[in-house]
Amino acid sequence: MPNVAQNIGNIKKELGDYKYTLVAISKTKPNEMILEAYEEGQRDFGENKVQELVDKYEALPKDIKWHMVGHLQRNKVKYIASFVHLVHSVDSIRLLKAIDKEGKKSERTINCLLQVHIAEESTKFGFDENELENFLASGELANLKNIKIVGMMGMATFTDDETQIMREFQSLKGLFDHYSAKFNFENFDLKELSMGMSGDYKIALECGSTMIRVGSSIFGERNYG
Ligand SMILES: *Cc1c(COP(=O)(O)O)cnc(C)c1O
Repeated sequence: MPNVAQNIGNIKKELGDYKYTLVAISKTKPNEMILEAYEEGQRDFGENKVQELVDKYEALPKDIKWHMVGHLQRNKVKYIASFVHLVHSVDSIRLLKAIDKEGKKSERTINCLLQVHIAEESTKFGFDENELENFLASGELANLKNIKIVGMMGMATFTDDETQIMREFQSLKGLFDHYSAKFNFENFDLKELSMGMSGDYKIALECGSTMIRVGSSIFGERNYG
């Protein structure tokens, strides 16, 4: 069994003075391991499947901040709308509208990150940039009162080539700066840049990440997921 407490301690020590939020990605891992991290003071946890997120939310302490980091289907938003802390994986306007609708039902404003495709691999989800530009320029966002876009998320290519990873993270940081400067709405306030996983969080922080999503370096390798 991996030593969760020690792993978290090591990451924090390694990252010293960086300013960041550590989201512990607990997908496929049992509640006991999440509680070990919780006892170390960890409060931000992330999952990539709705059902697992709901089950863990129900079973675990209520002051945990739950992050949805995986692809989210519009018809499943309703299961997490009442409690999710941040949705990292908003990859279309249609999804954004679905989240707004469910946020309204739950009488909440749901914080969202726009997921942007930066990796070379074509399998990863992400916003179409034209769609995003057009939508923001239309001003339609002002009508979505139950969502707030607070940042962006991206995943680099799974590779050992650090130059490539850095290039991809820098391109996301560039987009982040571009959109922050260009658009200003009450519910569009880019503060968080969610990038960096177990293999590349250090590079991500060097490139301006504010939020790292770390799974296997805390909880050990997964059998699937
Ligand atoms: C699984 C997952 C992570 C964590 O990956 P590790 O390499 O185990 O740190 C981060 N982000 C997303 C979107 C994930 O699905």
